[in-house]
Amino acid sequence: MTIIRNVRILGGELVDIRVADGAITAITPADPQADGDDLAVDGRGTIALPGLVDLHTHLREPGREDAETVQTGTQSAARGGYTAVHAMANTSPVADTAGVVEQVWRLGREFGHCDVHPVGAVTVGLQGRNLAELGAMADSAARVRVFSDDGKCVDDAVLMRRALEYVKAFDGVVAQHAQEPRLTEGAQMNEGVISGRLGLTGWPAVAEEAIIARDCLLAAHVGSRLHVCHLSTAGSVEIIRWAKSKGWNVTAEVTPHHLLLTDDLVEESPVGAYNPIYKVNPPLRTRADVEALRAALADGTIDIVATDHAPHPVEDKETEWSAAAMGMVGLETALSVVQEAMVETGLLDWAGVAQRMSVTPARIGRLAGQGQPLEVGAPANITLYDPAVRTEVDPSAFASKSRNTPYEGMTLPGRVVATFLRGRPTVLEGKLV
Ligand SMILES: [Zn+2]
Repeated sequence: MTIIRNVRILGGELVDIRVADGAITAITPADPQADGDDLAVDGRGTIALPGLVDLHTHLREPGREDAETVQTGTQSAARGGYTAVHAMANTSPVADTAGVVEQVWRLGREFGHCDVHPVGAVTVGLQGRNLAELGAMADSAARVRVFSDDGKCVDDAVLMRRALEYVKAFDGVVAQHAQEPRLTEGAQMNEGVISGRLGLTGWPAVAEEAIIARDCLLAAHVGSRLHVCHLSTAGSVEIIRWAKSKGWNVTAEVTPHHLLLTDDLVEESPVGAYNPIYKVNPPLRTRADVEALRAALADGTIDIVATDHAPHPVEDKETEWSAAAMGMVGLETALSVVQEAMVETGLLDWAGVAQRMSVTPARIGRLAGQGQPLEVGAPANITLYDPAVRTEVDPSAFASKSRNTPYEGMTLPGRVVATFLRGRPTVLEGKLV
């Protein structure tokens, strides 16, 4: 039996949590005499949250093990308070068959510091021409329920319609990376005042919004579930709000970086101008977009926070802007960024954070054993988080193989003290177990 002492579930009363056989067996008022047979963890000063669930992680294995592996990516996840991640399909080979998703699923079982749920590609090779074996991936040992060509948009409306129809058979969901390809050819950053001034090819908001509007209409037309990845514009928020007002089965995510950072960092930042650390897909947008995304996450228009953890080796990022890879690592800073953007601003309380970073992402991904409220009988997936400390982000301390964080040197609130996966600690005192 493990006892986790002196914690506040979602910031509530001080309690002790007892855990045995992977589940929560008792929650009692904190007792200074209480002890555990196997392990006693003092959680003084921490908030207990249900283990976080990420619907959007790039683990890079197979194919780009120089950037990340299932092992290092899930270590990074555990340090960020995550107990489950969905591994995106844009690996090499692409996760577009039962064989590849089972390979990733097995790697997760063998090396994972959290649960790994492979995402299946929507189209063969992410090529956007033929549907992948969605049914075979759903029936495989990996039991795939989330399908996405993330990194690329399923821009063919007929293919998107077929995918939405197909996944209904097994209660799956299509997660769209909304980027109209013709409108974003050669695009380098948000299209606006700053892209004009810097002479960089702009990435217009309409390229995202047009696809989202079309896909909401398609999902409604065929009566299927649609999930929209990484919303980045105020207009996208309006479209999702409209779709939800119609009662359509549409969910949406926002990344931590789109809740905090803006496109003017490309022009002027603590790490200079044109620093590719800020190059990301979709691009950082304007302050007005950030405000709209925060408000939408607070009022439930945007359902969840998803990291879009996108590790890249140094040589792919530390190059000139136009040649640099797009993406940022995010698992180890997500909760701190959400605290900074949403909790410190009074927009969300800890119950709201738990809903958007654990409960709802698990529901969208149809994960039975994750994202459950911390109650007796629930799986002991628990994150202990100290919101009172403030620390400078130090990428050299990351468990991730990659260091491409836009927060280096920034002081952010909060720290994950411990993470438990079905009662087994994966992180204690902030360190991997
Ligand atoms: Zn994407």
